[in-house]
This record gives sequence, structure tokens and C-alpha cells, in this order.
Amino acid sequence: MKGVTILGATGTIGINTLDVIARHRDKFHVVALTAHSQVDRMAAHCLEHKPRFAVMVEATAAERLRQILKTSCPEVEVLSGEQGLLDVVTHTQTDYVMAAIVGAAGLTPTLAAARAGKRILLANKEALVMSGRVFMNAVRQSGAELLPIDSEHNAIFQCLPVNYATHDPSLGFKRIVLTGSGGPFRTLALDKLASVTPEQAIAHPNWNMGKKISVDSATMMNKGLEIIEACWLFDVTPASIEVVIHPQSIIHSMVEYIDGSILAQLGQPDMRTPIAYALAWPQRMTSGVAELNLCDVAKLEFSKPDLTRYPCLRLAQESAQVGGTTPTILNAANEVAVQAFLDRRISFTTIFKTVEYVLAKITTTVADNLAVILQADQQARWQANEYILGCSKKVGAS
Ligand code: NAD
Ligand code: MG
Repeated sequence: MKGVTILGATGTIGINTLDVIARHRDKFHVVALTAHSQVDRMAAHCLEHKPRFAVMVEATAAERLRQILKTSCPEVEVLSGEQGLLDVVTHTQTDYVMAAIVGAAGLTPTLAAARAGKRILLANKEALVMSGRVFMNAVRQSGAELLPIDSEHNAIFQCLPVNYATHDPSLGFKRIVLTGSGGPFRTLALDKLASVTPEQAIAHPNWNMGKKISVDSATMMNKGLEIIEACWLFDVTPASIEVVIHPQSIIHSMVEYIDGSILAQLGQPDMRTPIAYALAWPQRMTSGVAELNLCDVAKLEFSKPDLTRYPCLRLAQESAQVGGTTPTILNAANEVAVQAFLDRRISFTTIFKTVEYVLAKITTTVADNLAVILQADQQARWQANEYILGCSKKVGAS
């Protein structure tokens, strides 16, 4: 029986994780569920899954949850604040941590799980993008197990040889082929991109995901963040990763070998497959995902990404090459810009302009400790907010 703590339990990954766990109550029990402020969904989760702890980061939300659970589910202890997150990830009953907080807010608790030597099911790619070296060092030093949840990285993990970390040339590894759907604007006329709405941007053609990652998929910043994520997870260089557009989202990624073989992992676009894989690894278990009928799919298409349509992908590819704090800056500027777009303060195409501006403004340094990383993150957020403020002043003046 493994004890699971879910960071970001009210999000799409959190909900899918609980769905998989509910199918395997003989193997897993829920130690803790955490969320930012969505009290109603958290209360429903607590009634169904009876965790030992529920953490609401926002104090007023925690108090409301306490009131709701006082009579209906008194055995759940409600904690609050960042400290609550740290307490549950490092708790002795927690064996596995699903890291599914969105954005930079996930870094501190996910890093704490790494330092505590837990099995980390990593969905929160932003944590790794921000702090790759520090995070991977923590994993190595504590002996934590790091299993990718991002469907592409989970696919790559499945297609690589078990001992790939040795980098033994006789394994014949050549390169990674990272697939991406191209998002909802793959075929939209380029001159229409500036006027797309948040509703259109979050309507992903194949996947049902949170708003931030849906916008990142529309700009393909998501694929760029995934290049950086893959470099750290699999200890490869950006040059050995090729991005390919695959609109059907059936092949989740591939690994090419020197003998001409390409191994691919195929499946429905349903996150319960990678979640079940990472929970059960090195075994497999059922996930509730519908069977894939290849005759129904009939056609798998591939094309090169057009960097004029997806300039954020280019910025991320360049940032991966530069390294240091550049990916941290890229990630922070993107988070601020995506939120501004969702709040209708800037246009879709201004997301790229904001990130490009911030990257040009801040000098990269070596990212070998958390203080440097958090400082770069704060600096980039400040610059991005300044840029966005400037944009809205210009709009107001015209
Ligand atoms: P979501 O927006 O649906 O959920 C986010 C969760 O994080 C919520 O539970 C929310 O309460 C919590 N949260 C938000 N801000 C917080 C804060 N400041 N402190 C503590 N908790 C906070 O997001 P999602 O789609 O489930 O994605 C979660 C992560 O998984 C992201 O990093 C995303 O890139 C990654 N991911 C998601 C998918 C997917 O299919 N949804 C696929 C691959 C990777
Ligand atoms: Mg992905």
C-alpha cells in the first residue's frame, strides 16, 4: 500500500490522478490533497477519498474548508499556507508525490519532495525548467525516483532503454522526436492570431487541460518548455531533440536509434495513461483509458513547426541552448504574459513580445542555487509586468 500526496488536487491532472487511484484502492491510499483556493472541489474530494490532510494555500479558503468538513468529514486535518504543502510532501506516510501545481508556485514543494527522497510523479514541468540543475542534483543526492507525467516525456521514458542513464554508446540512442498537436491555431491565417480570444486559445483540439498549459499549447511555448524538461530528465542536449507537429496526438513522442529504428508510444490523448504508468512503475496497471482503435484513427500526420506561427517555440529553443537562468526568465515572463492574456489585458501575439522583451532585458547567470533562480524569476516577472503595463498605456492613449 503506497501513500500518495497530490499537489494541485483540484486541477485536471489532480482529478485524473484521483480517478486512477480510485480504481486501485488495494494499492494506494491518499495521504494528502492540496489546492490553492477551490474549496468546493476540495471538499468533494475529501468526502470521496478521505485523505489524512487537506491543504488550502489560501488561509481563508482553508478556514472555509474546515467549516465544511467539521461535521461531514472530521477525520481530515485541514492545513494552510506554503508550510502546509511542505509538511505533507515530507510526511513519513507520503511515499509518492504527484507534483501537479501549475507554474513556478510548484517549485518549492516539489523540490522539498525531491530532497526528502520521495517518488515524484512530475507534471509541473515549470519547476524543472526553472531550476533544472538544482532539482536534478536534489534527486540524485536523496535517491528520489523521478517519473515523468508529461505525456511526451512519459512516452520517451517508455521508449528509452532501462539503463539509458549510463549513456553507453552501445545502447545506440540517436535522438528524441517530441510530438505536439500544434494547438487550436495550427491552420488559422497568421493575420488573425492577434485577435484570438482566451476562450478560443484554451479550446485545445485533443486534450482537456488547465488554462495555462492550454494557452502554452496554442503558442507552442509548451513544446519549448518540454524541450528544456527533456534535457534535464534524460540528460540530453537540445540539439538531440526534434519537434514534430502531429495533429492527431496519438503518438506521444518517439526515440530514434542508430540502426534506423524509431520507437514510438501510442495511445489515446488521456493523461490517465502516463499517471497509471508512473504510479505502477515498473509494473503496469489499468487506467480507465479507452482502447485505441487504429483503424478508427486511420491517419497519422507529421509536419515541421513553422516558427513564424510559433515564435515562442523559437525563444524556448534558444533559451535551452543558452542555459543558466535563461529558461527561468523565459518561464517567468511567459507565466506573467499568459495570465495577462487570460485576463484580457494583452493580445495573444503580445505573449511572445513580452517574453522576447524580458529575455533581452535580463542578463543570464549560472543557475546553481535556489536563491539565484528565485531572484531571476522575480526580476523577469517585474520586467514582464512593466512591459505589459506599457502596452496597456499605449492602447489607452490611442
Ligand atoms: P490546472 O490549472 O487544472 O490545476 C492547477 C492546480 O494547481 C490546482 O489544483 C490549483 O489549486 C493549484 N495551484 C495553482 N496555483 C497554486 C499556488 N500558487 N499554490 C498552490 N497550488 C496552486 O492545471 P493542470 O492542467 O492540472 O496542470 C498542472 C501541471 O501539470 C502544470 O504544470 C502543467 O504544465 C502540467 N501538465 C498538465 C497536463 C494536462 O493534461 N493537464 C499535461 C502535462 C503537464
Ligand atoms: Mg506535454
